[in-house]
Amino acid sequence: MRNYKTSKPEYGFLLDHNVSAIASLFPGKRARTLAQIGLRETARDEDIVRIAWELEMTIVTVDGDDFLKECTNFQNQTKRKDCHEMFGLVVLPNGYENQKRVLQTVRRHLRLSGARVSWRDVALKNLYVRVRKDGRAEIKRLSGVSTARSCMPRAEDLDVYGRHETPCGLIEGRVCL
Ligand SMILES: [Zn+2]
Repeated sequence: MRNYKTSKPEYGFLLDHNVSAIASLFPGKRARTLAQIGLRETARDEDIVRIAWELEMTIVTVDGDDFLKECTNFQNQTKRKDCHEMFGLVVLPNGYENQKRVLQTVRRHLRLSGARVSWRDVALKNLYVRVRKDGRAEIKRLSGVSTARSCMPRAEDLDVYGRHETPCGLIEGRVCL
């Protein structure tokens, strides 16, 4: 378990091997390659997911489907007193030129329910951002965790379907589903 209530996540990006060439293009030198955090290029997806969670970083990759599956598996370990929600997943198109181009414009396209979304929101609200080659982005919650597993939800925050955005209760500043 992590040291709850003492951590206050900011945001940072953990770059999979297939996007490492654009590390220097991320804002504020917030991106780290696998090598920089001590993983091999051949690291398994599940190891990348675990370390991204431990370091409270947003995963950036080209392999969206694989990581979506791995993140869901990981998040399903969530229990009331053990939040396993990730800190967002960003999927970019293939190729350095495409990635460089969309990264320069994607922030304009980051919206959820009409509201602007920052990179910090992507991390703290655990958002899944899939960026297309034309720079537009599809955004939704990465959380697929059922309410029964969710981390200390407050009953008054739940809607009639038993789902609602609610503060994590375990990690300060965090919003889990
Ligand atoms: Zn949580």
